[in-house]
Amino acid sequence: MRRLRPWALWVWTWIAPLVVPWALLLAVNAWPPSVPLARTTIPREAARADRCTWACHNRGCSHRTTLPAVLSSDRYLFGKTIDGLYALGRLFSRDRARGYGIANLLVFCVVWPAVMYGLWVSVWRERERLRALRARLVGATGREP
Ligand SMILES: [Zn+2]
Repeated sequence: MRRLRPWALWVWTWIAPLVVPWALLLAVNAWPPSVPLARTTIPREAARADRCTWACHNRGCSHRTTLPAVLSSDRYLFGKTIDGLYALGRLFSRDRARGYGIANLLVFCVVWPAVMYGLWVSVWRERERLRALRARLVGATGREP
């Protein structure tokens, strides 16, 4: 596999993950036709017996789930995640909904992307370190490992 030039590797490792997602987001949202489902408020819809609507989102859902309980139930992963976000939100606001919103933004817009960025950089740096070690090994022994 061909090696990237050092400046290109640096851009790929450190800059691309910060710029490319925003460029894609901008392109998708600004490219005509504009976003067909852009909303400024949470929609209000009537409840339906045959499927979930925004009424389920806004007032709770009584439909039978298709996902396993471990993913969809309030008692397992989903419920624990929501409980955790409410608990974290209490650190930021006495208003339950506001704190929950702040916790959502913090976790999903700051912490999670930061962790993914750190992992991305770590993987590429480790890859380069291993490639350098391999090159030294091949240079010293003349054999591929
Ligand atoms: Zn529903």
